Amino acid sequence: MPLKSFDFGVIGAGIVGLAMANQVREMHPNATIAVFDKEDSIGRHASGRNSGVLHAGFYYSPDTLKAQLTRDGNQMLRDFCAQESIAVKTTGKVVVTQNESQIPALQELHRRGNANGVSTELISVEKLAEFEPLARTVQVALWSPNTAVANPLAVTKALAAKVVREGTVLKLGQKVTKATDQRISTDSENYTIGHVINTAGLYADKVAKQFGFCDDYAMLPFKGLYWYGNWAPGKLQRHVYPVPDVRNPFLGVHLTVTVEGRAKIGPTAIPIFSRESYSGFGGLSVKEILNIIGIYPKFLTSSHHDVLGLIKSELPKYLQHHLVNQAKALVPSIRSQDFKERGNPGIRAQLLDTKNKKLEMDFVVRGDENSTHLLNAVSPAWTSALAMAEHVCRKFN
Ligand SMILES: Cc1cc2nc3c(=O)[nH]c(=O)nc-3n(C[C@H](O)[C@H](O)[C@H](O)COP(=O)(O)OP(=O)(O)OC[C@H]3O[C@@H](n4cnc5c(N)ncnc54)[C@H](O)[C@@H]3O)c2cc1C
Repeated sequence: MPLKSFDFGVIGAGIVGLAMANQVREMHPNATIAVFDKEDSIGRHASGRNSGVLHAGFYYSPDTLKAQLTRDGNQMLRDFCAQESIAVKTTGKVVVTQNESQIPALQELHRRGNANGVSTELISVEKLAEFEPLARTVQVALWSPNTAVANPLAVTKALAAKVVREGTVLKLGQKVTKATDQRISTDSENYTIGHVINTAGLYADKVAKQFGFCDDYAMLPFKGLYWYGNWAPGKLQRHVYPVPDVRNPFLGVHLTVTVEGRAKIGPTAIPIFSRESYSGFGGLSVKEILNIIGIYPKFLTSSHHDVLGLIKSELPKYLQHHLVNQAKALVPSIRSQDFKERGNPGIRAQLLDTKNKKLEMDFVVRGDENSTHLLNAVSPAWTSALAMAEHVCRKFN
């Protein structure tokens, strides 16, 4: 007879939900734990559709969860991959400038790295040519030796296999339709749950609202498109990133090297009106579109972001040649005809703080003795997941 009652019920089997199940198991070896996911397989959303970059943790202001949990999560994810024999390529990363006016912002990233206990180095044009001969910078670049890459789907699947091996029940194809204190209902079953853990990614806000924990936030999805290059593996050796606009939670179009050594351009951060519309008309819901459009007046009148500028710069990136041309500023030898293979797009579960009209920059954790909610689990939550789970479980234990 299948169990209908669990000590812990996790909603969402992405990397964050699986990391939470893993951590709960470590702290409560005899607990009954179930992880519910509406999809039939693992990694159908952000955790299987991202760049796979193990970020180092130098971008974030030192007072944020992102700063601490990315630095620690990078090491924890490397350890996990080593235990599970999953390849991690320590490519390192160079952040390059496009003009002199970006140098102070680059220096700020270096300062943040120092403050966060993350190794970075300001390097000359000559040194950049040694690290990544294809990249171009003006006067100075930033070198991050601890940035790496792995296959995000392989890592997420391995974590799912580990938690199942250790006794967690994985309930795939079970959409949670209602969640309240001590109770989870799916399309077909009702469950009694000691403690509900909400890690529902693009729907985490909706789940949290059922518990009264997310009334000050609204979901604004942003789409990330990618294009693969036809270059021989290993031609590009390091991830190459621009200096980001630190007012936005996005890093700008960049080049990454996959764990197989392929070069990839992207992702974009195109504002969209649906949470799961990866291609064509798939995943579109009129109700959802109207709901997201309804949030835009608040976003458009934000004094914290240049929203029109963001929209104007992001929308043309739907065009392959425009997006690829952006990357030329980082690596001039890129040719549009060499980057014609579409990558799997991903969608960011970005929250807007509706009171302050500001895109939330940090991870948000809410909860009480009955439920825990991991909100705004945007980049770099794939890197940070294991450290985030440890932090959250300690906080709420
Ligand atoms: C384009 C892009 C690039 C990125 N690049 C990087 C990167 O290089 N490095 C990095 O560290 N981070 C990166 N990120 C961020 C990273 O992918 C996410 O932060 C991370 O995957 C979030 O994991 P999650 O478990 O919260 O969400 P998800 O992986 O989205 O998992 C949530 C799960 O909840 C399930 N779910 C939702 N609603 C319900 C429901 N009602 N009932 C049951 N199940 C439900 C979904 O099916 C889904 O499987 C990137 C993100 C994007 C979009």
